[in-house]
Amino acid sequence: SAQIIDGKAFAARLRARIGEQVVPFRAAAGRAPGLAVVLVGEDPASAVYVRSKGKATRAAGMESFEHRLPADVGQDALLALIDTLNADPAVDGILVQLPLPAQIDERAVTTRIDPDKDVDGFHPVNAGRLATGIDGFVPCTPYGCLMLLKDVLGDLSGLDAVVIGRSNIVGKPMAQLLIGESCTVTVAHSRTRDLASVVARADIVVAAVGRPELVRGEWLKPGACVIDVGINRTETGLVGDVDFAGAMSVAGAVTPVPGGVGPMTIACLLRNTLLSAQRREGLPVDERAL
Ligand code: NAD
Repeated sequence: SAQIIDGKAFAARLRARIGEQVVPFRAAAGRAPGLAVVLVGEDPASAVYVRSKGKATRAAGMESFEHRLPADVGQDALLALIDTLNADPAVDGILVQLPLPAQIDERAVTTRIDPDKDVDGFHPVNAGRLATGIDGFVPCTPYGCLMLLKDVLGDLSGLDAVVIGRSNIVGKPMAQLLIGESCTVTVAHSRTRDLASVVARADIVVAAVGRPELVRGEWLKPGACVIDVGINRTETGLVGDVDFAGAMSVAGAVTPVPGGVGPMTIACLLRNTLLSAQRREGLPVDERAL
């Protein structure tokens, strides 16, 4: 039976290391690292994410600035708030919780955030930095997946990796990160012919689709490392994009849902906020210690 990758425990250790580095930051800078989170409207899932982000931020010794705007807020008012946060020296990271209501153009919002405060890594400048190997902000979910992969497998060089999903926030940056680790990367998506045979050759499978249990255990190469990003609410509860029970009997290691990738996303958000604060204050940045 496969190893269950304990993302919850890994994320707790990462948050503790971040908290340890916040102490000398506060002493040197005379302030705490600050993360501003903007929530528009009352989507219950988004409200839960924003609450847990705020809680984790404060628990790491950082300052959380939370801004709630009504669902019918105009785009200009949201952009004006982002301008204020861009100019606020106490704010190191800005995150606008997605999805946004229909009257607001998501792209206009993402591109308004100062790329050097863009701790979600969604600004095209940060996507370009990631693609070309320049320091910037890497989207939190794929970075969390990479940390788990390296923890389980060590050096990823030369491994065959399949990323299922090509979104800008998970699939594409995940593929970029794996290329950076010298994997041979295949990106599969909704038009892929014969997903099963693509998955069958992979040492690493990252599933970021949003279809409950799409990836079957019998598709997997024996011993593969499987990272399940999917969060699907079904009648039987939360399930991932991977058939967990089937994967457990074939794979070498599998992330559970919940308790796998999810907790890593928030921990990596705090990591990006601390890195931003250190860069902005001109303090030494030791990414590898995090
Ligand atoms: P998305 O809807 O933007 O993208 C889904 C991708 O899946 C698309 O690129 C599409 O081409 C591909 N796809 C759809 N059907 C397919 C099929 N039958 N076969 C192969 N590929 C198919 O989604 P996203 O934002 O990338 O998120 C993906 C999943 O990850 C969702 O379940 C989401 O809830 C979850 N998610 C989890 C976290 C976390 O913190 N754990 C963070 C972000 C997203």
